[in-house]
Amino acid sequence: MEDCLFCKIASGEIPSNKLWEDDDLLAFYDIDPQAPVHFLVIPKQHITSCGEIDGSNNAVIAKAFELISKLTKENGIESFRVVSNCGEDAGQSVPHLHFHVLAGRSLAWPPG
Ligand code: AMP
Ligand code: ZN
Repeated sequence: MEDCLFCKIASGEIPSNKLWEDDDLLAFYDIDPQAPVHFLVIPKQHITSCGEIDGSNNAVIAKAFELISKLTKENGIESFRVVSNCGEDAGQSVPHLHFHVLAGRSLAWPPG
């Protein structure tokens, strides 16, 4: 999608610090980390948020969670949090679906 930051990162037009890439998904480190480990997993196809998941695009969501499981295991991360902010009031600043993966410190609950 034109003028979408994460579409541009997915296509390589804007560089990122990549952790994983395949045809469907990209994992890259967050530019403003909120924990010692903070990376994002995005589908390369534009999906605006978790609120837009449906039967036409849900396969990539399963792949995203499989990738999160693989990357945390491979990096020896036993405790981690997966967050997806959906909508402005929930704190979504980039309207392209992404899963934050946070680890490396104690994480408070409930979130603010
Ligand atoms: P959210 O606020 O939940 O939509 O998350 C968007 C995340 O994208 C924030 O944690 C930002 O720090 C991160 N971010 C924004 N621009 C970039 C970028 N160019 N490279 C990596 N992460 C980014
Ligand atoms: Zn996009």
